[in-house]
Amino acid sequence: MDTTAPEPRSVLITGGSRGIGRAIAEEFVRRGDKVAVTSRSGEGGPEGALTVAAEITDGASLDAAFAEVEKAHGPVEVLVANAGITDDQLLLRMDDASFENVVDTNLTGSFRTVKRAIKGMMRKKKGRIVLISSVVGLYGSPGQVNYAASKSGLVGIARSLTRELGSRGITSNVVAPGYIATEMTDGLPEELKGQYLKAIPAARFAEPAEVARVVAFLASDDAAYISGAVIPVDGGLGMGH
Ligand code: NDP
Repeated sequence: MDTTAPEPRSVLITGGSRGIGRAIAEEFVRRGDKVAVTSRSGEGGPEGALTVAAEITDGASLDAAFAEVEKAHGPVEVLVANAGITDDQLLLRMDDASFENVVDTNLTGSFRTVKRAIKGMMRKKKGRIVLISSVVGLYGSPGQVNYAASKSGLVGIARSLTRELGSRGITSNVVAPGYIATEMTDGLPEELKGQYLKAIPAARFAEPAEVARVVAFLASDDAAYISGAVIPVDGGLGMGH
């Protein structure tokens, strides 16, 4: 049996100032990795993690954040593209700016982040990419045409990347959380929360840490042969995807 501790890896999580991203960062810190998170202010990451400033809609800002992380921890070996927003309204009332802003943050932002990360991974012939999507990406949700479009697009990115980079020791997967108790969901009307609860077979909402442990598994050696997968963490809400 190999009892040597695994080498700490350089892990970067976008949007690690709160919610799911912060819980993911805490999980990697707990496992002994060198963890960095981004937030727009450059503050707010958990203890034990380096927090750097990045605006995900701005390639130059992301590039500077990567440079800072690389200087401190070396090239990013595990990337979790987590930063995301919602801006809900029914399609009849949704203007172009709302659609474009959500897609630019959630989908194009992930594209920018992944593109910047793969250079170092290709050089090392090793890497783990996890894209945080949503059950809504494939299930759909009224009032979330912009959000669902951005989140289903991540599946196309992960699967195309798997075909581009699968032979280079790089895996690329999607995690699709269901209803997780964070600031993003806190603001939803109580009536809507009740409706969601009725639809979830597990009959409860999840804690961010439950998503974090699945992400950490996908980034582990045990998951070396999983790529291009969409892993739901949704208590059965979207099964059949
Ligand atoms: P939160 O709103 O709690 O946190 C969002 C994070 O994204 C923050 O760290 C925020 O950083 C960052 N962020 C937002 N916009 C930008 C931007 N333009 N540039 C850089 N960083 C940005 O969200 P959750 O933790 O709930 O969600 C995290 C991810 O999980 C999202 O992608 C979301 O879509 C997804 N998800 C969430 C679910 C839920 O039930 N909560 C369900 C399914 C998916 P800052 O400090 O700068 O604001």
